Amino acid sequence: MGGFRIGRILGLEIRIDPSWLIIFFLVLWSFTAGVFPQRFPGLASAVYLLMGISGTLLFFVSVLLHEMAHSVVAMRRGVEVEGITLFVFGGIAHARSEFENARDEFIIAAAGPASSFLIAAAFAGIAAIGERLEWGVAVTGVASYLAFLNFILAVFNLLPGFPLDGGRLLRAAVWKMTGDLTRATRVASLGGKGLGYFLMALGLGQVLAGALIGGLWMGFIGWFVRMAAGSGYAQQVLRSSLEGLRAEDAIAGELQTTGLNHTLHDFVTEYRFRGRHQAYPVVEGERPVGVISFRQVGRVPPAAWDSTRVADVMTPLDGIAIVEADARLLDVLDKVQESTGRPTLVVREGRLLGVVTSSDVRRWLERAQMLGGGR
Ligand SMILES: [Zn+2]
Repeated sequence: MGGFRIGRILGLEIRIDPSWLIIFFLVLWSFTAGVFPQRFPGLASAVYLLMGISGTLLFFVSVLLHEMAHSVVAMRRGVEVEGITLFVFGGIAHARSEFENARDEFIIAAAGPASSFLIAAAFAGIAAIGERLEWGVAVTGVASYLAFLNFILAVFNLLPGFPLDGGRLLRAAVWKMTGDLTRATRVASLGGKGLGYFLMALGLGQVLAGALIGGLWMGFIGWFVRMAAGSGYAQQVLRSSLEGLRAEDAIAGELQTTGLNHTLHDFVTEYRFRGRHQAYPVVEGERPVGVISFRQVGRVPPAAWDSTRVADVMTPLDGIAIVEADARLLDVLDKVQESTGRPTLVVREGRLLGVVTSSDVRRWLERAQMLGGGR
């Protein structure tokens, strides 16, 4: 999981992708300087700023609740969920295990839009009560606009293109009908690609009609959906090709290691040109004790390479991903993908057998794309 951590709710780790901060300020700016002054004219600029800040925060909470609805329903159905990362267009829930069946995927996908509809209704209710009790337009305006936004969020997410929730619903339906998850993913991804191109065309139309900012947004969202649809499909092809494989089946080439008492000079001489990776396991006998990377060596001045031992600069074992040789490759895939820059160590009875890296997974994905879905 990337991004930085902001807290933990219901056992879910909540993180924010750096890209989200940009969106946060764009939303804040468009609320404060655009939306609220246009819809509710005649208020002081400090009031618009307050409306903007509270509107942006409540929008952020709405998106978070949408993702939490997916996650909570998933956990209730036995899917392990690690946490939620909020990024450019909303959030992403990190499931550690895959859905076992079409029914589970359908219900988990439906939970998000359902919660957004409920949140929209709640804000509409608050706006109605506020109007009756005369809370003032600063409060009712924010509430009614959030009702509108959550409604749009629910409807947009229901569009039938993977990776949107509607695409997942479509995928689950095709999966149920055909019994073939890869084929179902292909159909839903085609939906996503088509939807992506459609949104891009719509954006271009808006730009040509003079709505530059709105059009660019639309185009950007279309592009994002188009890209995610393609990679979502490749991910699925990759996953289905890994079915039945164990972690040890994924080890590429002979094992390259270094020793605790080797000097940095030894390490650089051995692997600078012959090495296949940017980081190497450090072993004591056959037991792994850490990982050392060229980046770590680079932080030590070359004059000290002769006198510095590998043990002095390596990352100790508690910061390293380790998997058992007979673990299902599908179960450890995310772990491997997430430890970028560091190998995942494959061990049997404490003995190091080999490593698998995130670049290995990237290569498998590329091949899945090149093979075009053929198994
Ligand atoms: Zn969703």
